Amino acid sequence: MTHIIYNTNVGSNKPNTLINKDFKCPFCNRDGLKKEGRILRETNEFLIVENKFPVLENSYPAVVVEHNSCNEHIGTYSVEYLERLLSFCLDYYEDLQKTGSYKSIAFFKNHGIFSGGSIQHPHMQIIGFHNNNYEVNNDDFSGVTILSNQLIDWNFSNKPKSEFFEINLTLKNKDYLNEFCTYLQKSVQFILQVLNTKHQCYNLAFQIEEDCIRVKIISRGPTSILLLGFGIHQTPNNLEELAAQLRVF
Ligand SMILES: [Zn+2]
Repeated sequence: MTHIIYNTNVGSNKPNTLINKDFKCPFCNRDGLKKEGRILRETNEFLIVENKFPVLENSYPAVVVEHNSCNEHIGTYSVEYLERLLSFCLDYYEDLQKTGSYKSIAFFKNHGIFSGGSIQHPHMQIIGFHNNNYEVNNDDFSGVTILSNQLIDWNFSNKPKSEFFEINLTLKNKDYLNEFCTYLQKSVQFILQVLNTKHQCYNLAFQIEEDCIRVKIISRGPTSILLLGFGIHQTPNNLEELAAQLRVF
């Protein structure tokens, strides 16, 4: 799949709490979500909610509400909390997979205005696509090593799918989710506190495989015309230094 139809009628009704601060946060209002009958799964900490604005054709969109508070985020959780959250997401992901209704499932996160996000409240998205597969290329996860051992590969992309700063993290054994969460959180904090203090935006793109989990942690700002117009991906020339800096961060 390289293109998918976006329903502009649905899209035009979407609220945006990042731009319009007066808009009431839909994810702080659990009772409201319950009344609308949109909660698919619930614990004291997390929710999975049917997305009210299904903008993409032939897909089933769900939102994972990560926290009860609007002001927390992956950078502020304890590693144990993040591990419970991810494990909650993975259970849902696997159950979606087992239904057999989806050719592929996209699991991702937007954080901040340049990430494509519209709601500040910490959340992720899991979208099942009925007809389409997205491209999976393991070479996308190679780069300048931050850390590599029998469990973890952690590096800066030297061939980013986006441009500038893109961190790759692979967990080679799903039983060690705690390990994965530690480095995921460090990557996010490094982007917010060091690499991208100006925009404070990032995306996460997960790839869940039989025996491993991969995630791209992509620092976001305005997208350049070199990428959009010409397909040229700008790659920083200081990745060795940054890898060393993140190793001790
Ligand atoms: Zn909220």
